[in-house]
Amino acid sequence: MKLSADLFFKRSMKTVGAPFSRGWAKARQTRKNDVAQVLILAYHRVVASIAEAERNSIYGLVISTESFARHLEIVRSSYDILSLDEALLALRGGRSLDRPAAVITFDDGYRDVYDNAWPVLRQMGLPATVYVPTALMGSGQILDHDRLYWLSLQARAAGIDLRQPLHNAGITPQQSARILSARHMAQVADALNYHPLPMRQAILRCLEAALPEAASHYPASYELMSWEMIREMADGGISFGAHSDRHLILTLEDGATSEQEIHRSKQVLEAQLRRPVWHFAYPNGYCNPLIQAMVRRAGFASAVTTKRSIAQRGDDVMTLPRISLCEESTRGITGTYSEAVAHLRLAA
Ligand SMILES: [Zn+2]
Repeated sequence: MKLSADLFFKRSMKTVGAPFSRGWAKARQTRKNDVAQVLILAYHRVVASIAEAERNSIYGLVISTESFARHLEIVRSSYDILSLDEALLALRGGRSLDRPAAVITFDDGYRDVYDNAWPVLRQMGLPATVYVPTALMGSGQILDHDRLYWLSLQARAAGIDLRQPLHNAGITPQQSARILSARHMAQVADALNYHPLPMRQAILRCLEAALPEAASHYPASYELMSWEMIREMADGGISFGAHSDRHLILTLEDGATSEQEIHRSKQVLEAQLRRPVWHFAYPNGYCNPLIQAMVRRAGFASAVTTKRSIAQRGDDVMTLPRISLCEESTRGITGTYSEAVAHLRLAA
């Protein structure tokens, strides 16, 4: 099933019931009360126990269910929380906004989004979009960045020097010295993850071989959603977008691999959901004009990055900015959730 992005916008106009023409859109833009700003929020994992999650997970990816719900309350007080489809319509000039709008997104398709975030969204009656790496969903596999983080953490705890295993994987001594000198393990994992797939696989193989077998028993909390969960959420009004097939950093791969990743993620998601898929999120936010053109050619109508900014009418819908949030984003000086910091960060 391949439908063009233009058809997506025609369909969206229909569902929202708004007339659309260039002239009409232009007239709308000049309306005094039409703010045409969209804050796109990016979350990853929503967890029951933040203390436990921050012990064994990349801290920038996790937020507690309570803090997540508080974020949404604050955002709702300043913004109209719209579906991504509705927000795109506003960004393209097909709908006017009396208040700034916000969109809730999640990357990676973690199971705890189904378990913890979805009940909050349902209770508050809010729309959201989840971007999933299609090859990993329902496969029992976990994401490479989580594996790399866990293995680095185990190595540091056991006092195992990773320079030799990294050398075995083809990393130069200078590179490994730089990577391993990072202060936070999340930075180590991020640097190890930032490789084309064959190299990343070699790194994982060499790290697993250098550590005791038990180190490769990854925490259950890294689990991703099953296709049944995804379909249940989609039937319940949550929209799904593609996040490549294997969560590859597309700017590091050759053109043919990137093109295949992008096409395949759309095909697989559409087949699983039995509905068209219009939205894409670049893994780790990385893109360039070539990758953007591939995403557009594949028939996607929008793509999000991790560039920190608020989207404005007229922005390129293939490189939409987002604000990434986690528990750390709204911590005060006492180290716990701060309503004051949250208001500073989230209120318009
Ligand atoms: Zn991701």
